[in-house]
Amino acid sequence: MKKSIERFNEIIREKKLIDVAISALHWDLETQTPKKGQELLSDVVGYLSSKSYGVITSDEMVLLIEELKKKREELTEIEDKSLEEVEREVDKLIKIPVLEYREYNELTAKAQGVWAEAREKNDFGLFSEFLEKIVGFQRRFIKYRGYEGHPYNTILDDYEPGMTVEKLDDFFGYLRKELVPFIKKIKEDGKSVDGAFLKMDYPENKQMEFSKFIAEYIGFDFERGVISESAHPFTLNYDKNDVRITTRYIRNMLSSSVFGTIHEGGHAIYEQGIGDDIAGGILGEGTSMGIHESQSRFYENVLGRSRSFWEPIYGELQDKFEALRDVNIDEFYRGINKSESSLIRVEADELTYSLHIMVRYEIEKALIGGDIEVRELPRIWNEKMKEYLGIEPSNDREGVLQDVHWSAGLMGYFPSYALGNVYASQIHAAMKKDIDVDEALQNRELYRIKEWLNQKIHRFGKLRKPEELLKEIAGEEINAKYFVEYLKEKYGNIYGV
Ligand SMILES: [Zn+2]
Repeated sequence: MKKSIERFNEIIREKKLIDVAISALHWDLETQTPKKGQELLSDVVGYLSSKSYGVITSDEMVLLIEELKKKREELTEIEDKSLEEVEREVDKLIKIPVLEYREYNELTAKAQGVWAEAREKNDFGLFSEFLEKIVGFQRRFIKYRGYEGHPYNTILDDYEPGMTVEKLDDFFGYLRKELVPFIKKIKEDGKSVDGAFLKMDYPENKQMEFSKFIAEYIGFDFERGVISESAHPFTLNYDKNDVRITTRYIRNMLSSSVFGTIHEGGHAIYEQGIGDDIAGGILGEGTSMGIHESQSRFYENVLGRSRSFWEPIYGELQDKFEALRDVNIDEFYRGINKSESSLIRVEADELTYSLHIMVRYEIEKALIGGDIEVRELPRIWNEKMKEYLGIEPSNDREGVLQDVHWSAGLMGYFPSYALGNVYASQIHAAMKKDIDVDEALQNRELYRIKEWLNQKIHRFGKLRKPEELLKEIAGEEINAKYFVEYLKEKYGNIYGV
């Protein structure tokens, strides 16, 4: 028994080492690999990925899982949860025939290039044939893996364990009912908000200095992390002692680096806060995509776009940038919270963002359920945008072709973004019972907030499922009411409606 556990842990460790090597290559590819060097490193990533797959799905591992499952009561909590997690991963992989899995990976590797070209040329037809194949694979994989209720539940669970179509339908239905009319009202009756000053001249080197400052200010630990640049900001964790984030510096767009850094900083603080008892093991990372997004969005929006956050440090920002000399803190606060229905998800503000996700969720669910066909997507996309956001793209580049996710086979992933917003509001409501959050922000005591999050969320890693965490913190399941109330209060004040 002891031997089996040791061997089980050794195999997990072996997989971990390969995965860290893959991460290091990803970091290199995204931040500094020269264009012509990318092919070689991509091949190495492919090679190591198959090694990682082989280690975890080996016959030996499958036997160990069976053996350990029979002696569950002898395992510690961490061993037991690790076993559950490994079983989840192995189960997902071994039910899919290896040849089909490889064919699928080759397809998605190619599809990303095709998607980029289709977007560039504004030609959905170019991409649709690939997307049809990807959807076909997804439907088949779900059949192999099995499902309960709606087939979409299986891939949803990959990113958000425990989440189901039934829960999401309720959730999005409620958001639609509350937010669509509220956004319309703001558009029609709201005061005008000026955000033009955020698009003035902000020298990149000064943005870089400020990004370092703000990352440290919110609690990012530079002894266990670095910040670099990339075209699309992301966070990457080797383990809790090496967590890396990127941001981007655009000269006439201050928000991009400031809020990008705070957002990725939120992800990183989560990873840096993993408990020592689980660090380095299979449980030693964020528990789900949704909970991860709750942390990044809590820092970015709930804290970072609040007036209290900026009160003690706005002077420092003003000193750095000429463009803000004559902008007072109230104007700044309103400017960074300007809301506008936009066509592009990644540019959407806090208020309208979730509706962009709703469009994608409804389409994915219908595709996987076989209710619609890929060729209908441009029309369906535009109709939904019109219905929820009141605007319609004039071309597919600004519509159905805007996101990379589907070309990479990432289906079931989008809902995490909306869940993150909602979790963040529930977490905020619970935190306020223990801490005066505004006061902590005004007194530059962000460590109090970080410590609270660490105690309630970060240290547990994958030891707790999203639902369990939420129940312990908020005393209930996911509940979008807090998010809607938060938005209505905040934006009602800003827009005077
Ligand atoms: Zn994020």
